[in-house]
Amino acid sequence: MSLPPNEVRRLSKQELTQSDIEYFREKYGKRFVRALRAVEEGRAIKYNFQPSGTSKWIVRGQRREYLVVPQVFCTCRSFYHSVVIDREISMCYHLLAQRIAEIRDQYKSIESTDAERRKMSSELRRTD
Ligand SMILES: [Zn+2]
Repeated sequence: MSLPPNEVRRLSKQELTQSDIEYFREKYGKRFVRALRAVEEGRAIKYNFQPSGTSKWIVRGQRREYLVVPQVFCTCRSFYHSVVIDREISMCYHLLAQRIAEIRDQYKSIESTDAERRKMSSELRRTD
């Protein structure tokens, strides 16, 4: 579920050109557009927890927040249905957004505590 090196290189450019965007749209369809918009709107968030020094990524969707484990997992329905069950796509747009955010260094960092992390995990475990 990782992006090939040529795509990482393209995404790490300061400005994405029209041809970059077309390339990604061709490959990922409207998921790319949604992912890029989420990143540009500051909806990719990295929480850093102390004292453990661990972190979690959240991508805010239209109605709720999704926990994203980079390149591995997302709590949204589309991940469950389209990625895991149907194997129709390799990533939902949240997973794509997390990659874009990290590669472009374009995300919010929030400092938090391990107690908050536990609370967050139990809230995000719901998949409705
Ligand atoms: Zn997702």
